Amino acid sequence: MTGPTVTGPTGRPPATAEDAVRQVSLACQIIARFGHEDLTLGHASVRGPDGRTVYIKRKGKALRDVLAEDVIGIALDDPDGYLTPGAHLETVMHLETYLARPDVGAVIHTHPMYSIALGATAGGLELLSHDGLLFPDGVPVFDGTVGLVTTPQDGKGVARALGTGRAVLLRNHGILVAGEDISWAVLAALTLERAARIQFIARTLGDPVPIPRDMARELSASKYQEEFAEEYWQDWRRMLDTSP
Ligand SMILES: [Zn+2]
Repeated sequence: MTGPTVTGPTGRPPATAEDAVRQVSLACQIIARFGHEDLTLGHASVRGPDGRTVYIKRKGKALRDVLAEDVIGIALDDPDGYLTPGAHLETVMHLETYLARPDVGAVIHTHPMYSIALGATAGGLELLSHDGLLFPDGVPVFDGTVGLVTTPQDGKGVARALGTGRAVLLRNHGILVAGEDISWAVLAALTLERAARIQFIARTLGDPVPIPRDMARELSASKYQEEFAEEYWQDWRRMLDTSP
């Protein structure tokens, strides 16, 4: 590890509610630096240490400005939780993903430009770089609605489309990614957008030559090892700490 040591939560499952809140604010600030900023839209969330409380960015703040005070807690047991005052209209996507996926500890929904463009095509993600290896089986598309996902029914539809994967493209709209913890969710969000951007560049240069699917599965395990996500999280933290 290089550079100064950062203080604050790791990217692993949070030990306290305070750590979960801090992870959400840090994740929002990190993804804002990598093409996920869109007015005051987009949100990150973390499952709290009790397993039944979700901590999520509230509406009205740009991702780059999210502080601990901008994170609200919502009980997964509350069927009206998605209507919590101050919550984003699309909070329900997060809640339904946590309910469907007990293995998921963090969720991000944003509107990054290249991923939206990719989700507006018939072909979807091609495995053109090592970034694509994070999604060796491809990225499914949710096309239940091209509008906002504001109802439990559509939220369940997004979770169904996500399946057991790390990411889903929301047709003509954005992305939803899920991780076992916040470090993996941020990595998936950044890597999907980077892979989409590389695909755009490759197609302007010539006919893309993808990584064979069976080789991608094999390479994915070595490219994305468990300890790497925390290393990357610490690096993003240092970036936030050392930039003006
Ligand atoms: Zn959205």
